[in-house]
Amino acid sequence: MQFGIKAWLRHPKMMLNRLRYAQISTKITCFYASVLLLVLLLTSGLTGLGVFFSFYHQAEVELEISMNHVLKVMEQGRSIDMDFGRDDLVLPGVVLRIVDSRGKIVYENDVHYPPIKRIEESTVKNPPFWANKNMQVAQLRNATLYHARMDVEYRGQIYQMHFFKTITAEKHFLETLQKILFLMTILGFLLALVAGFFVSRRILQPIREMTATARKIEVEKMDRRIAVPPARDELAELAETFNHMLDRLEGGFEQQKRFVSDASHELRTPVTVILGYSDLLSRWGRSDEAVLDEGIASIRSEAENMQQLIEKLLFLARADQNRQVLHKENIELSELLADIIKKMKLVTKDHTVELLQNDDGMIYGDLVTVRQMFRIFLDNSTKYTPKGGRIVVVSQKVINAEGSFMEVDLSDNGIGIAKEDQQKVFERFYRVDTSRTKVQGGVSGTGLGLSIASWIAEQHGIEISLTSELGEGTTIHLRIPLCE
Ligand code: ATP
Ligand code: MG
Repeated sequence: MQFGIKAWLRHPKMMLNRLRYAQISTKITCFYASVLLLVLLLTSGLTGLGVFFSFYHQAEVELEISMNHVLKVMEQGRSIDMDFGRDDLVLPGVVLRIVDSRGKIVYENDVHYPPIKRIEESTVKNPPFWANKNMQVAQLRNATLYHARMDVEYRGQIYQMHFFKTITAEKHFLETLQKILFLMTILGFLLALVAGFFVSRRILQPIREMTATARKIEVEKMDRRIAVPPARDELAELAETFNHMLDRLEGGFEQQKRFVSDASHELRTPVTVILGYSDLLSRWGRSDEAVLDEGIASIRSEAENMQQLIEKLLFLARADQNRQVLHKENIELSELLADIIKKMKLVTKDHTVELLQNDDGMIYGDLVTVRQMFRIFLDNSTKYTPKGGRIVVVSQKVINAEGSFMEVDLSDNGIGIAKEDQQKVFERFYRVDTSRTKVQGGVSGTGLGLSIASWIAEQHGIEISLTSELGEGTTIHLRIPLCE
C-alpha cells in the first residue's frame, strides 16, 4: 500500500514528502484525522489522569481520616490491646494493624489481611506520580494496597501503626477505562480516515468532472459543458464560471469561423469574375475592341472591389488583435464635418447633401479613423438612397449632468432598414438584402462598413443608435464626448 503504516513508521520524512504530491482529498483526510487523533489522545489522556488522581486521593483521604481518629482515641487514654477498636475506630474498608516494639501484633481489625512483612516486600519502588509521597503502594499477586505507616510513642512504648486500603477494584476499573479510551481513540481515528476519505472525495467530485470535461474539449467540439452542482457553493460558482468561459470561447471561435468563411466567399466572387473576363479576353479580346474595353474595365472594377474588401478585412484583423494604431489628438469637430461634407458635395451628383447645423466642439480622437467612420455612414446614405434623395447632417452641442457631448444626426430619405435588421446591420458581413443593394447604383457592399464604424466609435467612447423606417429613410445618431 502506498501510504501503509509500516512505511510511515520506517520513513516518516519520505512519506510526508510523498503526501505533498497526493490528491487534495487525501491531504484533507490525513490532516483532519490527525487533528482528531490528537484531540482524542489529549482527551482520553487527561480523563484517565483525572480519574486516577481522584481515586488515589479518595483512598488517601480515607486513610488520613482514620489516622486522625486513632490519634484522638489515644489522646483519650484508651489502652492499646485487642479491645482498642471496640467502636468504629477506622472508616469501613481501612485496615489497622498495631505492632509493638518487639514486632508483636497488639491490635488488628482484620485477621485475614496479608502479613505486614509480605506487604512491605511487595512495595512498589516507583509508585505512580499521582500517589501520595508519604504513603506506599504495594502490589501483591492479586491485590493492590495503599499503605500508610505511623510510629507513635504511647505510655513509654513505641508502636508501629499500619493503615491499609485495598484499591484493587479501582485499579482494575482504571485499567479497563484506559483500554476503552485507547480503543475509542484508535476507532475514532480510523473512522475519521474512512469518513473523511469518502466525504472529501464526494465533495471534490465536481472538480474531477471539470477536469474530465476540460480534457474532452477541443476547438472542433466545444459544445460540452460541466454539470453545475445544485448547491450554491464555491464549486458551483467555479463550474458556472468555467461554462461561461466556454460559452464565450465557443462564441469567439464560431465568429472567427464565420468570418473566415464569409471572407473567402466574398473574395471568390471577384476572382471568378476576373477569371471569366480573362478567359473572354484571351479568346475574343485580340480581335474585338469592345470586348477588350469591357473586359479591362470589369477586371479593374472587380480588382478594386477586392482591394477594398482586403483593406477592410485587414483593418478588422488589426482591430481584433489590438494592432490598429490610433493617434489621438484634439480635433475641432465642426471643421472636420464641414470638410467631409464639402468633399462629399463635390463627388455626389445624384443626391443633395446638407449640413444644417454645425456647432463648435473639440473632440479627442484619431483624425483618420473618425473621418473614416463619418464616411462609412455617409457612404451608406448615398448607396441606399435612390437618386434625387436628400442627406442631412445636424451637429448639436449638448451639455448635461453627464458632461458635454456633440450629438450628430446623419439622416437620409432612402430605402430604410426593417426593424428586425436594425441590430444585425452592425454585424460583420451582414447585408439586409444582397440583390437589393446591388441594384442601388450598381455598387455592391461587403457588409463590413458598419462593423468597422462601430469599432471606431467604441475606441472613442462614441455611442451609436439608429432609427429607421422601411421606405422612409434612416438616421444614425452619434453621441460624441467633447473635451472639457
Ligand atoms: P460596405 O460598407 O462594407 O461596403 P455595406 O454597406 O453593405 O458594405 P454596411 O455598411 O455594414 O455594409 O451596412 C450593412 C447593411 O446595412 C447594408 O448592406 C444595408 O443593407 C444596410 N444599411 C446600412 N446603412 C443603410 C442606410 N443608410 N439605409 C438603408 N440601409 C442601410
Ligand atoms: Mg456600407
